[in-house]
Amino acid sequence: MDISIRNVTKKFGNFKALDDISLEIKDGELFALLGPSGSGKTTLLRIIAGLEIPDAGSILFHGQDATLRPLRERRVGFVFQHFALFRHMTIFDNVAFGLRVKPRNQRPNKREIRERVMTLLQLVQLDAFSDRYPSQLSGGQRQRVALARALAVEPQVMLLDEPFGSLDARVRAELRKWLRRLHDELHITSVFVTHDQEEALEVADRVAVTNEGRVEQIGTPYEIYNNPESPFVYEFIGNVNLFRGRVSQGVAFMGDVKLMVPELADAIDSPATAYVRPHDLNLSREKRGEISLMAKVVSIRDVGPVARIELVYPGNNKIYEAHLSAERLAELNISVGDNLFVSARRVKVFLNDGTKSGKIGRNIEKTNSELTSV
Ligand code: ATP
Repeated sequence: MDISIRNVTKKFGNFKALDDISLEIKDGELFALLGPSGSGKTTLLRIIAGLEIPDAGSILFHGQDATLRPLRERRVGFVFQHFALFRHMTIFDNVAFGLRVKPRNQRPNKREIRERVMTLLQLVQLDAFSDRYPSQLSGGQRQRVALARALAVEPQVMLLDEPFGSLDARVRAELRKWLRRLHDELHITSVFVTHDQEEALEVADRVAVTNEGRVEQIGTPYEIYNNPESPFVYEFIGNVNLFRGRVSQGVAFMGDVKLMVPELADAIDSPATAYVRPHDLNLSREKRGEISLMAKVVSIRDVGPVARIELVYPGNNKIYEAHLSAERLAELNISVGDNLFVSARRVKVFLNDGTKSGKIGRNIEKTNSELTSV
């Protein structure tokens, strides 16, 4: 079931919770709405479900206008952050509930209900627990029951609102993998809301990043992480180093460094900021051909496969972060206090007024001025 969201606006009083949102969710896709608290994710999910009606715009299910279609006719399954299982019912009865309350002419018979519930409990690997009560399960197991219960009525669309939000980090990480595997098995079009960037990037096929009721960017996790289209996405998704400067006629002057940014040819002496991910900073002992700055190592956190190195640039005393693989760290044999050459593999420059951005070109030159940064 593909879903089209077209120019959806929703106000609560004078407050615009959603501001002209448009996006397409493909059939069979696991789609994440990712954004900070209050950015409108849940409101959008509730509009897709039919729990809210937009003030303007429309929702199409497989090309058919469903904006005013009531919840019960949308065939959506729901999983919320707070376990909404019936405490007085066994796990089996919880999953069977949606089937037993169907109108008589659509209700499966007892044997069919039993078969379907047990198949779903096997799918979420809880068939051995069918006679238990929710209080006898862990938080993660209860969320798996909630998912089985939502799947029981054979929804065309699954909507998950921070489904793992109240679980501890290890269980969350396990359930993420498990949700992805389950989705690969069932291929039900699913939309899930999260404010956890790692969760969205690890699980989803595509991600929409929301901010103040608008969509900042839609893309695959790779695109969102590696090619952010706005400063907001850069800063919200992962760590980033910022360098302040100015751009004039396609050339960015970032303190000590001059960068060619052909896409910003129209800018005249405009304040701008360059964004560089920590893994795109390259460290070396020898000066390379490209532009590099000398900076001093102030800390090394060598845990797991990626080492985090903090460096201070003497020109402005700002701290920058670089991520290195364990092998590269061993190769460089770095210690705190060492002076290293720092260069950037990938840089994106945004004008501070938010009007335009550009990637740097190949042609990079060094100037004599100082590097400044935020
Ligand atoms: P969170 O991650 O905290 O759940 P969210 O991105 O899902 O946030 P929403 O729940 O969609 O955000 O809320 C968006 C904005 O709309 C918030 O500022 C919220 O206070 C407001 N809002 C949501 N529902 C209502 C309502 N029924 N009445 C008034 N304001 C509302």
